[in-house]
Amino acid sequence: MEGVTSRTLLLSQGYEPIKVISWQRAITLLFLGKVEVVEEYTDDIRSVTLVIKIPAVVRLLRAFRRHAKPVKFSRVNIYARDHYRCQYCGKKAGMPELTYDHVVPRSQGGRTDWTNIVTACYDCNRKKGGRTPKQAGMHLLSQPVQPNWVPAMTIRISTRSVPEAWQDYLYWTGELRED
Ligand SMILES: [Zn+2]
Repeated sequence: MEGVTSRTLLLSQGYEPIKVISWQRAITLLFLGKVEVVEEYTDDIRSVTLVIKIPAVVRLLRAFRRHAKPVKFSRVNIYARDHYRCQYCGKKAGMPELTYDHVVPRSQGGRTDWTNIVTACYDCNRKKGGRTPKQAGMHLLSQPVQPNWVPAMTIRISTRSVPEAWQDYLYWTGELRED
């Protein structure tokens, strides 16, 4: 079995994409009782004793997060959390045009962590300077939080190769870029 239908999208219990696995692995997880099938391909797998549809999307039945490491605090994961959008002006941009901003500046005791770092374009970053948003008269699009998802960057799928059965589930983390 080659091509698109040879791959299965693995979702967390909360329906967030975790990774892409082979359909053989998906079947193994299914028989181990670890996943349920959410979407199927039209192709069958036939053996002497059974015929089943190839799983397109499977979902873990138990919480995945408990054993998962927290999302790594990194520049790229900050961008992913903020959907590559400047959190002040809302401009969406590629990585070279983005930087990160301390909401409360370090000079005023702001920490370098998930709740005080946001994605910003260079213009907004410069305009804001060493001030809080309030002092600078700027507004955050959303309050920064520590994400509880698996960072989108762990799943690298180009839009063109995504099976239709996956699309409802990939929407979440916004890793499908329009290119
Ligand atoms: Zn901006």
